[in-house]
Amino acid sequence: MDIDNYDVIIVGGGPAGCITGENIKNHKVLIIEEHQCIGAPLQCAGLISMNGVKELGAPKGCVNDIKGAYIYSQNNTIKVGNDEIRAKVYERKVMDKDIAIRVSKNKNIDILLKAHGKIIENKDKSSFFNKNSNYGLSINHNGNKHNTFPKIIVSADGAKSFIGKSANIVKKREMLAGAQIEMANVDIDTDFVHVFLDRRYCNDFFIWIIPMGKDRVRVGLCDSSNSYNKLLNFINNHPVASNLLKNAVPIEFSTGALPIGYSKSVKNNLMLVGDSAGQIKPISGGGLYYGAKSAKICGEIITNYLSEELPINYLKNYDKRWKLQFKKEIDFGLKFRKILYNMNNKTVDKILEFIIQNNLVEYINNNGDMDRPSTIIGEIIGSKIGFKI
Ligand SMILES: Cc1cc2nc3c(=O)[nH]c(=O)nc-3n(C[C@H](O)[C@H](O)[C@H](O)COP(=O)(O)OP(=O)(O)OC[C@H]3O[C@@H](n4cnc5c(N)ncnc54)[C@H](O)[C@@H]3O)c2cc1C
Repeated sequence: MDIDNYDVIIVGGGPAGCITGENIKNHKVLIIEEHQCIGAPLQCAGLISMNGVKELGAPKGCVNDIKGAYIYSQNNTIKVGNDEIRAKVYERKVMDKDIAIRVSKNKNIDILLKAHGKIIENKDKSSFFNKNSNYGLSINHNGNKHNTFPKIIVSADGAKSFIGKSANIVKKREMLAGAQIEMANVDIDTDFVHVFLDRRYCNDFFIWIIPMGKDRVRVGLCDSSNSYNKLLNFINNHPVASNLLKNAVPIEFSTGALPIGYSKSVKNNLMLVGDSAGQIKPISGGGLYYGAKSAKICGEIITNYLSEELPINYLKNYDKRWKLQFKKEIDFGLKFRKILYNMNNKTVDKILEFIIQNNLVEYINNNGDMDRPSTIIGEIIGSKIGFKI
């Protein structure tokens, strides 16, 4: 393999990186992944909306269908959902690998494992594309270092995005720490997830119990600090959780970071996609749908740029196009997040009470969309209850 032969190098072999590669037509693409296996380590709860499943190309790895949620405040509970399947639960390790296998069938794409990429400056301006390329990559593959200067670099390196940071695109952004335990031997209704909004157990986000089919669940939370201890406290002491999980046996522990907020996603010949670009829903932390859809746009823009030798500024259309799809929703989420996480337990109790007393569950079932929650939240919490969002 000659690393200098690629038009595009994508840093990160997660879903966003692989789907970007899949959508670059007629040009040589290398995907580098620092780990020895695609899809590991696990950093996800694996709950994906039906839109998300479609954008990801309906990969293998689905273990359960979800029809709704129990939402708990400290003293109230509502059950939303009906017979319609709203989401699927995935084994991310199986899913990510399946996407990579699908992508690898394309003869223009190679994948290199155990290869870590670092941004370097490009001083060679001799060819048409090099003239436009400020950035190159230093790739450390199994201890062997090589500097290379592809026409385009895609930073699909996830939440922490050292590539985005070293090019000064990703600046300071809120980062939540996730902790999750998969547990077996749990007797649970497999159709519904459980979501807990309770400041006694989690300050800055929410806690989830997601059934993975018969007998198995993922229990997790995100918070700004001390997530693992908070999760153990929840499992052992929350009245509903401790009862539901009384016979549960932990079988896998995982951690992960959740970026809240987006940045610019194009700088010269460097493009950011997926978590690296902050393509994540700030209210739920779901990133797979936005990331997959944006990756397709990214691949398409790169194809046009390379095929038609367009000016480098053309790449900025990627930033415009994905933001046209998701910016409004993310901006709403960022605003609502601030309001929600400043509410105390009493206020959250009152909101659920309002929904119960005004029979709004049916309305939520008919109008709710987990990929675009602004409509339903704006209507209930904004218009009906009167919070200024
Ligand atoms: C606790 C938790 C729960 C979540 N639950 C959900 C959920 O239920 N549903 C949902 O839709 N989203 C969820 N998310 C978000 C979801 O996991 C991400 O949005 C998604 O994984 C982003 O995909 P990606 O390809 O951008 O990044 P990643 O999947 O993180 O892939 C990035 C890849 O880049 C590699 N890499 C990083 N740096 C380098 C480098 N320098 N060189 C080479 N390789 C590198 C990494 O090893 C990794 O494989 C959750 C996140 C967390 C933290």
